[in-house]
Amino acid sequence: MQIDLAGQTAIVTGSSTGLGRACALGLAAEGMNVVVNYHSSKEEADGTAQEIIDCGGKAIVVQADVSKEEDVQRMFAACQEAYGHLDVVVANAGLQADAAFTEMTLAEWNRVISVDLTGQFLCGREAARVFRRQGVNGHSKSAGKIICMSSVHDEIPWAGHVNYAAAKGGVKMLMESMAQELAIDKIRVNAISPGAIRTDINKDAWSTDEAMDKLLQLIPYGRIGEGEDVANLCVFLASDLSDYITGTSIHIDGGMMLYPGFRYGG
Ligand code: NAD
Repeated sequence: MQIDLAGQTAIVTGSSTGLGRACALGLAAEGMNVVVNYHSSKEEADGTAQEIIDCGGKAIVVQADVSKEEDVQRMFAACQEAYGHLDVVVANAGLQADAAFTEMTLAEWNRVISVDLTGQFLCGREAARVFRRQGVNGHSKSAGKIICMSSVHDEIPWAGHVNYAAAKGGVKMLMESMAQELAIDKIRVNAISPGAIRTDINKDAWSTDEAMDKLLQLIPYGRIGEGEDVANLCVFLASDLSDYITGTSIHIDGGMMLYPGFRYGG
């Protein structure tokens, strides 16, 4: 079976930069129309869209804060107006606001939960409403696909980042519960759970030789991930090649989940 996404439409949140951008370009390369969502960096979002258009694809740019219900609904309405249908939502937007547990402010806690968890709820709910209304159509075997961008920290506890780990742990149960509830409607819901991928969010972890050496101790496969690694998985989950997969978190991490501290025995 071939990957066949031509003419389908995806919304990718937070796709002006990083993994969202990589996923938007990857889906567009397979023929998808893309809604490039951004929060504040219009110039970068325009850059993502222009790269898609330069390669012969279709893209529109929509500003929306994924933590705001009215913004999310406006973004889905813009997609409907531009393309008339929707097939895939990649709920990717996320941020960190790190602090030691006893120093973390309520504002830092709420900021991360509202974008990284509530944002996924709002986008997932809106997607499910559209997919249910559309039903299974000629585009693919399912009525639609929701792809949640999670993290290895949906499993690995993370000192100094409790808001982020709590949000991603929440995304795991949100994703599984949505998958369970929406399977009857032929809507597939899965999560991509990256380890360390080279983007701005974790620049401190790879931008010096010393930091990179420390990071690689956590990665048995011996390299940092690249946006393209994640985009390839996103394309697979968006396509009918993964038609029997729902409710699954796929860790894409070079083995970070394999208790690397134990790799030499002892
Ligand atoms: P990034 O900072 O480049 O991308 C995050 C994007 O989300 C940015 O474009 C940002 O503008 C956008 N965003 C932030 N708040 C938003 C809001 N309220 N509304 C809409 N967009 C908003 O970092 P990234 O690494 O590409 O992160 C993308 C996703 O991948 C995040 O959910 C992150 O938690 C997850 N992730 C990344 C890694 C990694 O190693 N890079 C690992 C695990 C998980």
